[in-house]
Amino acid sequence: MRLDKLLEENKIGSRKSVKRTLLTGEVMVNDEIIRCGHYNVDPGLDRIYVGLQQLSGDPHRYIILNKPQGVVTAVSDAEHQTVLDSVKAQGIEVTGLFPVGRLDRDTEGLTLLTDNGQLAYELAMGDKKVTKIYRVQVNTSLTKNDQEAFLEGIKFHDGTTCKPVILKIISSSKEVSEARVEIQEGKFHQVKKMFLTRDGKVTFLKRIALGPLNLPDDLLVGEARPLTINELESLR
Ligand code: URA
Repeated sequence: MRLDKLLEENKIGSRKSVKRTLLTGEVMVNDEIIRCGHYNVDPGLDRIYVGLQQLSGDPHRYIILNKPQGVVTAVSDAEHQTVLDSVKAQGIEVTGLFPVGRLDRDTEGLTLLTDNGQLAYELAMGDKKVTKIYRVQVNTSLTKNDQEAFLEGIKFHDGTTCKPVILKIISSSKEVSEARVEIQEGKFHQVKKMFLTRDGKVTFLKRIALGPLNLPDDLLVGEARPLTINELESLR
């Protein structure tokens, strides 16, 4: 398709302002500056950037954020900073974006923001089994018994039963243990409540994967960027 059409579809601007953007030399296709609107691109294959923003042919926007602690997973909040504030602080336009699913205020890590309601629904609530992986620190030792209990399905004190969860113990001692938890549900405070039933308090929680999306090592806490085309393709 034509490059100027792709830029318009990605809401980079009107036909006139897209022309101007092209002339400024901000548009790169496969690391080459392209100033010509009728240049032909394949959005599925070509890496297309406007400044730091990577585009695909999809008109929706997808931003990955390494959410800091203290920030709420909401579009607005009277008291606290929101994930949208974090994204905005990175110089990214946030109009129309909302977070997919929810992390607690004191949880950090991978948060996806988009304006694609269908994809958000499929990832957060659809029938697809989307695995979420968390790195957890707890104030108690972890044993094989805990792994078995997680795999059998933890029962909360209110009687709610969780589906099987994989618990990988990274290190264990009386005061502090580290683990990875792989979970397919998204019950309220689920990870914290699961450890509470085993007499452990979660002292640190970080989401490191959401389905096929992994938290990139070079995305520091508080940083956000558009998904790359490869990351986006993995979600489809
Ligand atoms: N489970 C929790 O307890 N908190 C989160 O933020 C995510 C999963």
